[in-house]
Amino acid sequence: MSQLAVAGLQPFSSVDFPGRLAAVVFLQGCPWRCGYCHNPGLQPRGRGEGPRWPELRDWLARRLGRLDGVVFSGGEPTLDPALPAVLDELRAMGYALGLHTAGLAPRCLGGLLPRLDWVGLDIKAALGDASLHDRITGRRASTRAVRDSLALLRASGVDFECRSTVHPAWFSDADLLRLVRELAGVPRHVLQLARLPDASGSLRAPVAWPSPALLAEARAIRPGLLLRT
Ligand code: SF4
Repeated sequence: MSQLAVAGLQPFSSVDFPGRLAAVVFLQGCPWRCGYCHNPGLQPRGRGEGPRWPELRDWLARRLGRLDGVVFSGGEPTLDPALPAVLDELRAMGYALGLHTAGLAPRCLGGLLPRLDWVGLDIKAALGDASLHDRITGRRASTRAVRDSLALLRASGVDFECRSTVHPAWFSDADLLRLVRELAGVPRHVLQLARLPDASGSLRAPVAWPSPALLAEARAIRPGLLLRT
């Protein structure tokens, strides 16, 4: 069996797996090149700089009870060939299992879904706007895989939310509203503001965007739309 490519571990999180106290395991490797990627060091493929799986598995076994979930993030965790077997090991321990994915590998996601309790699916831009989606991901024809992943999720019965990272450097007000409108039928859609480096290199969220009027318009489309800052 190939080794899980662990790039890092967040030992405790109450926000990355809704309703669970979870460890977040970051896996190495992602073929997309989003301009706002907060983990660019995790993009190249490789074995990862984090703990080896046997060591991490033993740590998780000792944490059971204080933690009740493990969520895999990245990078793009669906592409790690070791993940299905690792999920099976954690399920046997009694953990609830979550996944963060950009939906770029629907075939891999399909193999993982029966093993998962929850998925956070990134939707980078309205899937009807292929040109903006490709501009953000740095890859051509990037919407097709995401469309397929969303369809798989909807059919699976697995609990999920769609998450969109937004910033006026990429999104006009109309782009934002189009995205919210397109996802109005999914159970939960969360916007998160991208943080980009300012002149001094510090990461900053956009100031005064989305405006209160724009947010009100978005919430008229989806009441209760969440904005994480
Ligand atoms: S899909 Fe995620 S990990 Fe991959 S480049 Fe984009 S933001 Fe980074």
